Formats: sequence, structure tokens, C-alpha cells
Amino acid sequence: MSTSLKPSRFNFSVPVAAGALLYNTHSGALISLQGEDGRKLAGWLASAGVETLEGTLPPAVESLLSDGKFLVPISADEVAEVRERYWKARAETPLVLTITTTQDCNLGCFYCYEERSGDKLGDGDVNAVVAFARQKLSRRAHRALHVDWYGGEPLLNVSFLEAASLALQAMCRETGSVYHASVISNGTNWPADPAAFARRHAIRQVQISFDGMREKHNRSRRYRKNYGTPLSSSFDEAVSVVDQLLEATRVDIRLNIGRHNLEDAGPLIEMARARGWFRKPYPAVIQPAKLSAFTDQCGFLRPREFSPAEFQQLRANIKAAVNGEALIEETEAPDGLPLPRTSVCAALAPDSAVVGADGLEYRCGLHVGQPQRATGQVRHSPFPILQDHRFADAAWWESFDPTHLPKCSRCSFLPICLGGCPHKHLEADHFALDEQAAYWRTNLPRLMAERAGVSLDTAVAFTAQDQYKFGL
Ligand code: SF4
Ligand code: SF4
Repeated sequence: MSTSLKPSRFNFSVPVAAGALLYNTHSGALISLQGEDGRKLAGWLASAGVETLEGTLPPAVESLLSDGKFLVPISADEVAEVRERYWKARAETPLVLTITTTQDCNLGCFYCYEERSGDKLGDGDVNAVVAFARQKLSRRAHRALHVDWYGGEPLLNVSFLEAASLALQAMCRETGSVYHASVISNGTNWPADPAAFARRHAIRQVQISFDGMREKHNRSRRYRKNYGTPLSSSFDEAVSVVDQLLEATRVDIRLNIGRHNLEDAGPLIEMARARGWFRKPYPAVIQPAKLSAFTDQCGFLRPREFSPAEFQQLRANIKAAVNGEALIEETEAPDGLPLPRTSVCAALAPDSAVVGADGLEYRCGLHVGQPQRATGQVRHSPFPILQDHRFADAAWWESFDPTHLPKCSRCSFLPICLGGCPHKHLEADHFALDEQAAYWRTNLPRLMAERAGVSLDTAVAFTAQDQYKFGL
């Protein structure tokens, strides 16, 4: 007896000259259907309201469509399958401890979203941080700890970083755990020998941001009062640190590009090439990033942000300038047809955490310094904060599940998006969430065509009807 089948809710179809392309966001399968009949079939499979199908297609076609999950059994609960994949991804996310050594920064970038304060971790916090990490590690089947040193500028509190790093490495040796670290830095204030420092602290990746060539970088990333001298150049310091770090570790050169420094993207790549950054023992990695309003504090950036299409073009230009000589890492959407997501951000991992410079535990680095967003306490205190009275967000993070959200659960991009950034949901940032959907609607048809090796006659974009086939 044959099984009744229905079209998957995750099908998308794009008409092309030879017929149509059909893509399923849940399986990642992409097929071409030929001719006018193929186009009709693809359109039919990507629409809502067709409930059953039994014995109406040639067996070879039915088998092709079933294999790609374009057709699924009538009883299939596809959203439940995505939910299962999502929770598996959460459980399997590696343990990452982001440690904010200080909330202070020596630079005053005009777009910085961070809350600056005098909070910093001190010698008295080393044992608490190690105990915190030990407890997290003890719950993991796979004993590996990755520490991401974060700030403010983490190197402004290098004494804590030194002491805590050595203590964490000793704890990992004792418990038979793998240890490695990374740093997010503005490239200033590093100790005299950055390469030796990186080796001593098992740092396998450093991210350093550039906001243009010297003049624009120094203007954007200027020293704050009481830091630096009138002659200090944050650009020259960062360039010198990168020169040295690449002897010992990978450095991601984050290019923060906005409308004000667009013309510097090419010269920055040229400088990296001229300084030999792509041929060092650890070649530099280029990370294009658009200036964005990560939080409401920098909402003034929104009107100046690149649209997804503009940023897409910028990434293409940077890629062309790099010319295959260096790896380009994507901070936003990667190149190529998206696959169903099997990973989530560290904020959703059951044991990952961000240790704030205020001694509180957070889930997402964007929240550090906002005690109302804290989810626990790391610093030992004689006056423990009662769980009942604080840390209300902890339960939100535990239970966050995009497959239950009103919009995401009905969205056909769900398997490749998994709701995007949870912080945006927590903050009810509808502008950013709508941008996420706009990105997929605008870019998915093009990415499908590129993967299939065909061109689209005209720019095709999916509609709200394509995204929410069964309505909202
Ligand atoms: S595109 Fe928007 S609605 Fe769809 S899953 Fe992503 S965040 Fe949710
Ligand atoms: S919640 Fe968003 S901003 Fe925070 S770590 Fe996850 S993806 Fe990044």
C-alpha cells in the first residue's frame, strides 16, 4: 500500500529558462525540473494547500522528490523534526567560556555598543573563575574548554588574564581536558612580545579590528582621555601587533566597513598583502563586517547601515581583491547555498557562559555590564544574590526554542535560520528580525541559481507568501 504524501512546507521554487529549481531548506537538496511541466510541478510543490498526493506522479519522479524530502508522508511533523535537530545542536555545542577581564577600553569607537565602566576581574576572582569552569567541564562528556578573552579591551587587564589563563590551563591538565583560547582585541596594549604571549596562553586565534587605513582608523578608533598620547596611533599599534602575532597564531582581520570608510577596504587588503600577512606561518584571515546597530545604544547607525544587497556587493569586492590569497571568513551570512543548520551560537549551549567584569554570569557578550540581563553569579560573595530575585533571563535562555515562536514556527526558512540571533528575540528587535527574513527572501533565489550553475533572467525575490505558506 502506498503512503499518502504531501509537499514539504520547506520547499522553495524559482523559475529558470529551462524549467525551475526546487530547494528544500530542511534537507538541503536542490534539483532542476525541466520544461513547462517541471515548472508547474515545482510551483505546485512550493505552494500551500495541496494536501495529498498518491500515485499521481511517475514512480521515478516520486522517488526523486521523496529522497530530497520535497514530498513527505502526510503524517510528517516537519517542524518537530527541526525542533529535534535544534535541541541536539544545543546539547552538542562546545563549551566556550567568554571572560570579560575588564569593562574598560582605551579607545572610544563612535559606534561601540558596550557599557564602559571601571568593573574588572581581579586576583581574588581567579579561583572563582576556575571553580566555575571546572563545574561546567564536569558536566561535559567531551572534556574540552575554550576560553575567549573579551572586554572592553581584554589586554588592559593583562595581569588577570595571565593569572587566570595559567590557572585554567593547570586545571585542564589536572582533569585531562583540552584547553585553547582566543582573544578579541583592538590590537593595542599588548605585552612586548605578542607571539610569546600567544604561545604561553595557548591562544589559537586573535580577532583585531580595522576601521580603514591610518587616518580613518585613528579617527574612528581614537584614544580616550587619559589613554595614549597626542602622537599615539591605534592603527600603527594594531599593525605592529598583527605583524608579530602571525608568527604564532591565526589573526582574523576584521574589516569594519561603513559608508564613511568604504574606499579604504581595497587599500587595507593591499597593505595586508604588502606586509606579507597572507604568507606568514599563520596566514591572516579576512573578516568583512558591516557596521551595525547591535543594541539600541547605537540605534543611530541604522539609517547608515548597508542593506543586505550592498553588503553582499562589498563582500564580493573584498573577495576579488583578496584574489584567493587568504581565507575570507564570514561574520554574517556565508557564501553558497545555506545548508540546514546543525549548530547554534554559544549563548544557547547549556554550559557555555560569559563571565562579566562585574563577576556576574551572562549568556551573550552583548549583555555584559547590564546586570538585569545576568543569568547567574561567578564572583564569590558573602552576600549571595537570591536566585528568586534576580537572573530572570536564565529561564528564558533555557527554554528559548524558535520552533515554538509564532513567526519562526511558520517560516519556511526555519531550518536554515533557526531563528537567527536569540539576543534579537530577547530584545524584541523587530527591525533586525525583519532584516533577517529580508536577507533570505532576497538572496536565496540567487544562491539556488548559483549552486545550480544557471543565471536568473531578472532579480527574483521570495515573498511573504513564500515564507509563510500557511499564513501567520
Ligand atoms: S527568517 Fe525570521 S521568522 Fe524565519 S526563522 Fe529566521 S528569524 Fe524566524
Ligand atoms: S545571542 Fe546573538 S549576539 Fe549573542 S552570541 Fe548569540 S548570535 Fe551572537
